[in-house]
Amino acid sequence: MTVGKVWAGLFVGAVIALGYALTVNPGITASVFGASPPQANHQSDPTADAAMNRPATPPKDPAKSVADPSGETAAGKPERLQTIRANTVSLQGKALTRWQEWREGVERLSREQPAQVYIGGDPSGKRLCLTFDDGPDGRNTPQILDTLRQKGVLATFFVLGEQASTYPQVVKRVEREGHLVASHSYSHPHFTKTGERSIRSELSRTEETLRGITGKRPALFRPPYGDIDKAVLPVLEHSGYRAVLWSLDTFDWDHKRPEEIAAYVIENARSGDIILMHCGGNGAATAKALPVMIDGLRQKGYAFVTVAEMLAVDAYQ
Ligand SMILES: [Zn+2]
Repeated sequence: MTVGKVWAGLFVGAVIALGYALTVNPGITASVFGASPPQANHQSDPTADAAMNRPATPPKDPAKSVADPSGETAAGKPERLQTIRANTVSLQGKALTRWQEWREGVERLSREQPAQVYIGGDPSGKRLCLTFDDGPDGRNTPQILDTLRQKGVLATFFVLGEQASTYPQVVKRVEREGHLVASHSYSHPHFTKTGERSIRSELSRTEETLRGITGKRPALFRPPYGDIDKAVLPVLEHSGYRAVLWSLDTFDWDHKRPEEIAAYVIENARSGDIILMHCGGNGAATAKALPVMIDGLRQKGYAFVTVAEMLAVDAYQ
């Protein structure tokens, strides 16, 4: 592993850890960013936005920039979206560089292991996946479920075993209302650092918790912090999981206003996008953004499907 990759991993972990930490203690914002959060970073500057959301810079080695043929159809067009877009307006300088390195690494892993690591879906249909991480909770998840029911939209919830055991009735409701319940680990560790035994334990504890609530064992897994590498994949596979990341990251936990989250998604969604949002304690802004977001996306002709339907894979083991 290169020094750059180590830093990228550390950084991505730190950024997403902050998002996760906010679910526990919103007051952490002050201690991380100082007394005054960097408001200037959160403005909607269309120029900056456009610049941040260009496709990933190709790897320096041109040979590596050639897409893996296994990810393409006979016609030469990718079967799935292979790039990650993100509303990274608050990431700047080195932080942005490190995030871009993480993104390139994950995109490359997905091209190399197309049956194991998924970023996005079929770019030829006008379909999207709404996905919600870190729940369930007792406030934002029910509000999100209310909206999805009112709008007649199915979504995918990557739940934490720990949260599921605290809010089993919310998990039951997610399942009962037709949404997909997938795994996001038990306690949200870094999978590239925690070791094989711990990974197996995280997966099996979550499985047993969810099976006890819904009677089903998930087959789809989203790594906490997006933290994944080649060493983790065989462990996931052995436990019966495919890794599902995302192709559109809203950074919804990062001090964004609901209008900003909705506008970003409506403007930037591509057919086949798997959209990352949060429904735990860090999902308050998304819960408010969701009605406008769904209406706006529908106006643009998009329909909503679960991740399993988009990727044509089994949702449960
Ligand atoms: Zn998470």
